[in-house]
Amino acid sequence: MNKPVILCVDDERIILSSLKSQLVQTLGEEYRIEVAESGEEALEIIEELIEQKQELPLIIADQIMGGMYGDELLARAKKILPDTLSIMLTGQATAESVGEAVNKASLFRYISKPWNEDDLTLTIRSAICHYKDQRELKRHECHQEILNQVLQLALAPMPFEDRITQSLAVILSTECFRSLNKGSIYISDREHEDLVVVSQINRGIAPDNQGDFDTNDKQIRLIRTPASSDTAALTYYRAPIILSNKIFGFLYIYVDNRHQQNIQTTGFISSICHTLAGMLRLAQYNLALEKHNTVLEELVDQRTSQLNQALRKQEQLNDILLEANQKLEYYATTDELTGLMNRRSFFNRADQEAARAHRYGRNAMMIMLDVDFFKEVNDSHGHHIGDKLLAKVAQVIKANIREHDILGRVGGEEFAIVMPETDLKEAHEICERVRLAVSETNIEVEGTAVCVSISIGMSEIRRDELSIGNAMIRADQALYSAKHKGRNLISVN
Ligand SMILES: [Mg+2]
Repeated sequence: MNKPVILCVDDERIILSSLKSQLVQTLGEEYRIEVAESGEEALEIIEELIEQKQELPLIIADQIMGGMYGDELLARAKKILPDTLSIMLTGQATAESVGEAVNKASLFRYISKPWNEDDLTLTIRSAICHYKDQRELKRHECHQEILNQVLQLALAPMPFEDRITQSLAVILSTECFRSLNKGSIYISDREHEDLVVVSQINRGIAPDNQGDFDTNDKQIRLIRTPASSDTAALTYYRAPIILSNKIFGFLYIYVDNRHQQNIQTTGFISSICHTLAGMLRLAQYNLALEKHNTVLEELVDQRTSQLNQALRKQEQLNDILLEANQKLEYYATTDELTGLMNRRSFFNRADQEAARAHRYGRNAMMIMLDVDFFKEVNDSHGHHIGDKLLAKVAQVIKANIREHDILGRVGGEEFAIVMPETDLKEAHEICERVRLAVSETNIEVEGTAVCVSISIGMSEIRRDELSIGNAMIRADQALYSAKHKGRNLISVN
């Protein structure tokens, strides 16, 4: 493993050598000490270190040197490596140049020559501590930022695989994984529980597939595979994605040497795996919800269809019922033979009219009509001819009264009329018209013309009468009288 470097710069070799030996004594083997005899040489070393990806926590520089001065060197180094700390070491520096170095190079400390060994040791230890703290803080902030991004992706409205892939890309942008930018995420196959790759970046194929691998290992492992004739040596983290204490997949992240076996990195990977497990759970919930919704929709469709069927059936039944009711109403109120109101229906309507005339003090007439010698028609031609004759007479009566007159068949060959808003004279004219029309009508029955007449009895419906009962009796008496006087007549009570 490459050690972090401390760079010492002084134009006097003897000072450089003394500084180096004190640093080695103080820091032991943990750091590599590089030396430069000028600012220019120091800058070259810095560039080489950057190229080799070497960490440079600290530069200790003399101020007064031939060529580039210490303050300028430190200011330029600060621009290239902002995290590197610097200490200035000089005997003749002006307050101005020290101030300049403090400002431009963010000088950590200034130490006068000749230095006190304890002071230098303490200062260096403190600088290294400060550097490490800063680096950890930065790493922590970076991890925090990446975790936030992954958490936001976990809630983003996109397919599960896309979410995983974008999360992997974000994780690989972390400093510790960026240099190799190589990783993959495997999740258990839903049906077969085999691990299938859900996402991989830069062919970060799981090397475990090539060798023995305990799929129940719940620890985050740093795995090293040695180089072979075909492949280079590989180092990667293998981290289980655990949901409800069961491994659902693995995250593989390749890492370069500098970041291996770091407790912060392991903590970060652990947090990421928890978030991935959360994503997985969310995907499972969504899947279950989708299935549930599909079943529910099917059920609703089925129920709706059943309901519609039932409604259609109900509609048909309603139509049948309506038709039956209409028929029932017709048969309950209508005389089948003549199509006129039957007796019951006539009395209802006629009584209503009598009550109305009583309430408003209006005229109304009650008329009784009877076919003359009807028994003889029945006897000589048969009842079926009698029926035809009655139907024809009913038609003639109906055609010769007014639309608002109330007409009904109240007995075998007997008809009754209530004439609203009508006085005796008007009623008589109408009855005469009816009588004539019937007597002039030849009714064709089986090739021969049958001629009939009617007798008519009339009575007023008196204004004190609430129903037609008494008026009907009086009209009946008048009808009897018309019959008695020779038939085909109108008689008034
Ligand atoms: Mg000098």
